Amino acid sequence: MINVPGYFDRRQLAHEPVQELHNGGWTPYAEKSSRAEIIAASFPKLHPAADFGMQPILNVHDGGYVEFLRSAYAEWRASGRDGDAIGYTWPITRRRPLDLDRIDAKLGLYSYDAATPIAEGTWEASYWAAQSALSALSAILDGETRTCFALCRPPGHHSGRDYCGGYCYLNNAAIAAEQARRLGRRVAILDIDYHHGNGTQDIFYGDAEVLFVSIHADPVTDYPFFWGHADERGEGSGLGKTLNLPRPRGTALDGYVAALSEALDAIQAHETDLLVLSFGADTFEEDPISHFRLRQDDYRVIGGRIATLDLPVLVVMEGGYAVDALGHNVEALLSGLDPQLHAA
Ligand SMILES: [Zn+2]
Repeated sequence: MINVPGYFDRRQLAHEPVQELHNGGWTPYAEKSSRAEIIAASFPKLHPAADFGMQPILNVHDGGYVEFLRSAYAEWRASGRDGDAIGYTWPITRRRPLDLDRIDAKLGLYSYDAATPIAEGTWEASYWAAQSALSALSAILDGETRTCFALCRPPGHHSGRDYCGGYCYLNNAAIAAEQARRLGRRVAILDIDYHHGNGTQDIFYGDAEVLFVSIHADPVTDYPFFWGHADERGEGSGLGKTLNLPRPRGTALDGYVAALSEALDAIQAHETDLLVLSFGADTFEEDPISHFRLRQDDYRVIGGRIATLDLPVLVVMEGGYAVDALGHNVEALLSGLDPQLHAA
């Protein structure tokens, strides 16, 4: 069992899309609600999320996009469609702003892939996932704990200021990081999901105050392809505040901790006083959609290395699709991260 305090709201289970377009065919939706149930079962108790309202979400996300997320499913059904709302047309670059009303045009404008359908409960679940992240942050800022876990689901790190993608709708880690920055903290985000956290990177790309570091599969071979290359380092005053450490498929613990050392050096150099850890367990060797070779015990090692920073850590759940192992993988990471659990 996990002694680290955690936050979760059962309304996050309301999101249950049926299928996604993956590698050329319709497949059952991988980011299913049982992921959250199995992680929750590893905790003796999870605290319910408090409601911090819309403002922290709107500090990160575009108002038009948020309104779209809230209304897309109803509009989809009102236009006579079955199933979940999903786009089929995407602009290849930013086009001139047009006020288009048809749901398919809006899906094209506010999403970038066919892995992120909007179902009946998507808004409700996304809203409460963001509130879980904010609640866990609040527990740290109030001094209740130095390590806190936000069982965010749906995940968030592929979602940008005005788009959903990669199973992500609201960027939970970015919302918490922005809130912490506004409350005077010096924040770094370390993203250790298998996939590059393109949405988080995008949100803070021109930002000098929030450091974004990501260790992920090389986007030459893996989703999201168009972001996460090593030469993306930020822009404007944020130049140098984005660090991408792509690794090849097949990476195991040795190769991984070499990248992690580089990441931890950057976090220290930033004079970070609060770390947001976007944790995806899809780096696991048995993950059905990913290609790293981390084992369950490796997460304890990784957590232990991150703990050497001696920082308050907000752990935000991202991906991980080997559902049966998910609770144990989260537990291994948190036991490495939190010395209290070592002693237990
Ligand atoms: Zn992932």
